[in-house]
Amino acid sequence: MPTERKYKEEIVRYGRMLHERCFVAAMDGNLSVRLKGDRILVTPTCVSKGAMRPGDLVIVDVEGRQLSGRRNVTSEIGMHLLIYRMRPDVAAIVHAHPPTATGFAAAGMALTEPLVCEVVMGLGCIPLARYGTPGTSELAQTLEPYVADYDAILMSNHGVVTYGDTLEHAYMKMETVEHFAQIALVTHLLGRQQPLEKVDIEKLLTARSKYFGAKIAAAMPLPRAPLKVS
Ligand SMILES: [Zn+2]
Repeated sequence: MPTERKYKEEIVRYGRMLHERCFVAAMDGNLSVRLKGDRILVTPTCVSKGAMRPGDLVIVDVEGRQLSGRRNVTSEIGMHLLIYRMRPDVAAIVHAHPPTATGFAAAGMALTEPLVCEVVMGLGCIPLARYGTPGTSELAQTLEPYVADYDAILMSNHGVVTYGDTLEHAYMKMETVEHFAQIALVTHLLGRQQPLEKVDIEKLLTARSKYFGAKIAAAMPLPRAPLKVS
């Protein structure tokens, strides 16, 4: 079991990666890890995720009360607490505003087409939650219908949240969502899509249970007719 210091270093490292890849701008985004004893290690508000130090991080309890840290906790802590409460298997959460996936979220479009086999296998589909004002309980409420069944959610007119059993897995899901959004965008530019057939999705489902076991939550997308943009 890594020490708290190791987890702090890990959050700093993945925060820097979010910033380097332009998944966040200015002070955007937040990351957290569930520690022993029902405590959450989380990023503070008003700090660039590209320039954090381990000492900037704060620890809160499951009610969001600050237990340690000099800085104030992120205003989006309610979203993290909801996910930890609903998903005992989740130990880390990443929230960012990657431009292409956030573009889909701002266009009111979910990423639910089965277009890429590895995305179907790893994440299923990525639903779109309705808009909720950041920093309020409304934001967590908009995510609630999806948290149990998906590991990555688009947040309308806002960004993306991903989570997993480790911070590495939560972060990798964020990269996958943005990469998939870029691919989906190209299919829209090309004016057509060729979704995977039902039989192929079923084979991916079998492969997924083999590789990931029952741990993975995400629902599979349903095959749809090819999209033709006129
Ligand atoms: Zn945000």
